[in-house]
Amino acid sequence: MENLWDRRVFVKQMFTGSMGLWALPYLSLKKSKVIVLGGGISGLLTAYLLQEKGFEVQVLEAKNKLGGRILTHKTESSAVIELGAEWIGREHTSTLALCRKLGLEMSDHAFKTSLFTKNTLQKPSEWDISQEGIAKIQTFQNDFLSATREQRQALNQISWMEYLESLRFSVDDLYLLSLAEKMEYGTEIYNISALQAMQVMANSQNSAHDDFRITKGNITLPETLANKIGNENIKLNQKVLGIENKNKQVTVRCAKNQVFTGDFLVCSLPIPAILNIKWNGALPKNIFPILENSKYASISKSAYIFDNSIKRNDDQQVLTDCEIDLIYHATQNQDTKNKVLMASSSGRNSKLWDLYNESQKQEIFKRILQNTKSNFIWQNPSQALHSNWNQDEFSKGAFICQDFNFQKVNEIFSCSYNKIFFAGEHTNSIMPNTIEGAIRSSEKVVEMITKL
Ligand SMILES: Cc1cc2nc3c(=O)[nH]c(=O)nc-3n(C[C@H](O)[C@H](O)[C@H](O)COP(=O)(O)OP(=O)(O)OC[C@H]3O[C@@H](n4cnc5c(N)ncnc54)[C@H](O)[C@@H]3O)c2cc1C
Repeated sequence: MENLWDRRVFVKQMFTGSMGLWALPYLSLKKSKVIVLGGGISGLLTAYLLQEKGFEVQVLEAKNKLGGRILTHKTESSAVIELGAEWIGREHTSTLALCRKLGLEMSDHAFKTSLFTKNTLQKPSEWDISQEGIAKIQTFQNDFLSATREQRQALNQISWMEYLESLRFSVDDLYLLSLAEKMEYGTEIYNISALQAMQVMANSQNSAHDDFRITKGNITLPETLANKIGNENIKLNQKVLGIENKNKQVTVRCAKNQVFTGDFLVCSLPIPAILNIKWNGALPKNIFPILENSKYASISKSAYIFDNSIKRNDDQQVLTDCEIDLIYHATQNQDTKNKVLMASSSGRNSKLWDLYNESQKQEIFKRILQNTKSNFIWQNPSQALHSNWNQDEFSKGAFICQDFNFQKVNEIFSCSYNKIFFAGEHTNSIMPNTIEGAIRSSEKVVEMITKL
């Protein structure tokens, strides 16, 4: 039977935001030059699609590498480890279509989830929320579709946790929901607005968990796009510091006094990076307090690389209520000498995980594995790799939180401001915190620009 975790679901319907365009002077689009800020998936896809439509593009990326929050590590024996975005769901239709178009092969990356809570391990078929809880979820999934604007606004005033409590979910159901959904949102569910969570649930299917990854690593998606765009149109090590939008030109000032000009600008930078730029009046002042209130999810991943094979059930992961939220065999379905166990934590656990030193981390991991009596067997790892996105200078977190501010943030980014447009996962109302959200945001912004 498919359980709570496996019923992970995604928003299907677009949330309607106001689409205002600041007065846009007439411009002949032929051979127009678009500056794209950010070399993550949304920046690169935006540039690629615009180039296909005949625009000249210039991508500016602050780091010395592309991909942003898609970060693949390959071991000497070619084991592929995803330290950033890992899963591409069956519902991620734009991502799957893009991978097909670019000829990127996909691998099955689905797991069945065991649950380790209160010192007891339950196999995938042995746990779920109660029948009563399932019935309640189904009822409000249906009811939400006909909810009025006022009802939706009211849902945006309370947290997902408070809302579930008000519906009298049992304590056990609440415990399970909060554990499972924390991994989805990258934060505790009292930080998520009930409206946002309902959007996700109400438009979802009860589909089996059906996840993939790109066989040679998710990074091959941005890499392939970059090859098509051409190195001459991508500049690395260009940290954007300031923008001016005057005299029919957008001017971008980067570190080391580099200056770039274009007819349009698409900014695909995460919000913390947007806030670090000097906009020199190019954006309305009243949007900044809203952006400053936006929060980012916290996710830590620690990959432990083993030289020998590890005994395990390949397709099983363990969701726990311990210091590590999720343990899984990251190299399942990979025919490589190195095998990798991943420890992933989110929200408060992620912040605590980052405070432990290496030997404390390994002791915790070993203890949890022993306690779960799982088939994962700890040996001394040959290498440990850690990614902590809260400390990444350029994103300051894993992805945008769908909190009480999210709707307003979404409205801000649905607009263009003179010749300035926005893309990036945080700008998309559907599946914002995914590669899919980032990809859809690029498709949308390209459509906006080409319709001018
Ligand atoms: C740990 C983790 C796990 C995840 N798991 C999944 C998952 O399983 N499935 C899924 O679909 N998604 C997942 N995501 C989310 C996914 O990675 C992101 O939603 C997506 O990659 C965001 O793409 P983007 O282009 O919008 O932003 P980014 O990838 O952040 O790209 C923005 C780029 O802008 C650059 N930049 C920032 N500031 C400046 C500046 N001043 N000047 C120039 N360049 C700048 C950055 O360096 C970066 O390259 C995960 C994310 C993390 C961190």
